[in-house]
Amino acid sequence: MELFYRSTRNNEERVTASQAILQGLAADGGLFVPEEIPNLAVSMDALKKMSYQETAYEVMRLFFTDFTREELAHCINSAYDDKFDDDTIAPLRAAGGAYYLELFHGATIAFKDMALSILPYLMITAARKNHVTNDIVILTATSGDTGKAALAGFAEVEGTKIIVFYPKDGVSPIQQKQMVTQKGDNTLVVGIHGNFDEAQTGVKEMFSDKALAEEMWAKGYQFSSANSINIGRLVPQIAYYVYAYAKMLAGGELETGEPINVAVPTGNFGNILAAYYAKAMGVPIGKLICASNENKVLFDFFRSGSYDRNREFILTSSPSMDILISSNLERLIYQIAGRDAGVNRAFMETLSTMGSYTITDEMREQLKDFYGNYASEAETAATIKGLYEQTGYVIDPHTAVASCVYEKYKKDTDDRTKTVIVSTASPYKFTRTVMTAIDPSYDTKGDFELVDELNRLSGVKVPKAIEEIRTAPIRHKKVCEVSEMPKVVKEFLGL
Ligand SMILES: *Cc1c(COP(=O)(O)O)cnc(C)c1O
Repeated sequence: MELFYRSTRNNEERVTASQAILQGLAADGGLFVPEEIPNLAVSMDALKKMSYQETAYEVMRLFFTDFTREELAHCINSAYDDKFDDDTIAPLRAAGGAYYLELFHGATIAFKDMALSILPYLMITAARKNHVTNDIVILTATSGDTGKAALAGFAEVEGTKIIVFYPKDGVSPIQQKQMVTQKGDNTLVVGIHGNFDEAQTGVKEMFSDKALAEEMWAKGYQFSSANSINIGRLVPQIAYYVYAYAKMLAGGELETGEPINVAVPTGNFGNILAAYYAKAMGVPIGKLICASNENKVLFDFFRSGSYDRNREFILTSSPSMDILISSNLERLIYQIAGRDAGVNRAFMETLSTMGSYTITDEMREQLKDFYGNYASEAETAATIKGLYEQTGYVIDPHTAVASCVYEKYKKDTDDRTKTVIVSTASPYKFTRTVMTAIDPSYDTKGDFELVDELNRLSGVKVPKAIEEIRTAPIRHKKVCEVSEMPKVVKEFLGL
């Protein structure tokens, strides 16, 4: 049966999965949602024996119904291969009374790889399917993790080009080095004299520039987006929740049907929404524990029913969660508004004009599966140190936020359901934060000295992504003003 997608902001548009992937965002600014969430079509007993790739196929075939079996298998096998340094792709690690689901074994050692290593293949397949002959140009602004994961995913993929803008002085030294050493003739990385918001605004302006679109079309190019609102990023993320549950069952950690809770370090609400979809598909998940850092918009929302972005933006040690508008929350709002696009659109309009909205009591009733809380900077550091001293296991600051919130949840509720804490980045990506949490005196050391110290202390092999950038030549030296961004894009595309 074919599954179609609708916009969260109008009831008219109806597109196929491949069209939704190609477009990214609906023309009315809404997000594409499947008309219904399919149930898993195979039993947990069967899933228990499956590899990550087989599990991913079982999930994706239900959502991407206009892809053939061969097409999907090709996308999955090209994405989840030896770019990952662990054969199981997403290993589970028991520590401190919980199960850490490590989603950082891909090319850029952050969980963005789980979706961005497959998105390029899905997009190219979708383009062919819809008779698009233009090359796809991915344009992205990044505050660090997304840019590198998208670059790694799209590098050398035929029929695509990728251009990434990052704030020259706004990313960590390791993040910058990862990006400017990127290989691939179809890649361009540019630092801007400005902050992330300015980079983001510059990119959005180019997306809606009709004259630029026409010039590009004439040369055989069109833009697309690798942003986390793309359904081609959301659906692949459902797979690891199904996989984690099945592996716990296979390992004898769970009885048949026994529920688990999941604790997710949350920014744009994509990862935890994938868990919500997994639950709707039939995975026995109890509570969805939504963990925020000091930018605790979501904590306040779950507590009060009011979403309010009118507040100071705080720079924290978990930068990938420094966000005041969690874009993917719109899909949940649409769902709990009874899949009424008009009602959802009104909330989103209020958000854009007033910066806030308040949902109804009936809608709040449907949020009972969620628990929201947050971790302060001091609590995050104490969690890294505490877990290390207790177990020897070292986690990154994003994961630590989830771990800390999970402890708060247990205190609040006495719920002792087995819990999966989603581990979204390797500690090697945030070495300085991690090491100084364990001992502040490390702060005097250099970045790569700290890498070696972390290796000594954790016994975890230094990932290839870090070894490579120690000596890799810098390939991208371009830096520009915000106003020059379109010029840089045109030069690269030969317009
Ligand atoms: C992007 C990111 C997050 C937040 O994920 P969302 O899907 O945006 O909620 C958490 N941790 C890390 C390391 C990330 O890169």
